[in-house]
Amino acid sequence: MKFDDFLQEVEFDVPPPAKFPRYHIRPRSCGVLTDKKLRSSVLAREELLERCATQEWPGVDVREFCENQGRGVIATQPFQKGEVIIDYHGKKIKKEVGQEIMNSTDENDRRSDYVFFGPYGYCADASAEHCVCHPQTRTLGRLFNFAAKGTTQCNVYPRYFVAEKQEKIIFVAARDISLLKELRFDCGDKNCQNISN
Ligand SMILES: [Zn+2]
Repeated sequence: MKFDDFLQEVEFDVPPPAKFPRYHIRPRSCGVLTDKKLRSSVLAREELLERCATQEWPGVDVREFCENQGRGVIATQPFQKGEVIIDYHGKKIKKEVGQEIMNSTDENDRRSDYVFFGPYGYCADASAEHCVCHPQTRTLGRLFNFAAKGTTQCNVYPRYFVAEKQEKIIFVAARDISLLKELRFDCGDKNCQNISN
């Protein structure tokens, strides 16, 4: 069996479907990745920027889980603790605009699920399924599901960094991650666990 077919057929151990909330707020926040830490990462800075630009990230794939669970992202290769996995790829917007999106009371407005607030007033909107800069590519960082910090499901964390005047949010492996594990992070809002992508 080809590896890709195997991935399609394998069953994933995911929690039972949660009730979908009528309205929610999903503020995300994260710390800053220092230059020193980035240097100790498995991925070199140049390669990291290259991957952000091309959106070619090996070792991750999107999967449809069981009904009501929506989509999630799995590891199709093992990752070492501290390894950069993928970026949170969104359009940079003003913090105030991000806040306006979060304050929307329109139940059909799902953009708030994809707004990411970083440090130094950085804010990214990844609500578009296909970004303007990569219209042919489906970016996967935006599809990571929630898991509470400290649980076994929470295996990645976001970090903000600046390189060559580019601001990025990237996901880093919080521990060694084995093949086929779903990649989940704690966005700082418990309501996130009820959201399906
Ligand atoms: Zn893009």
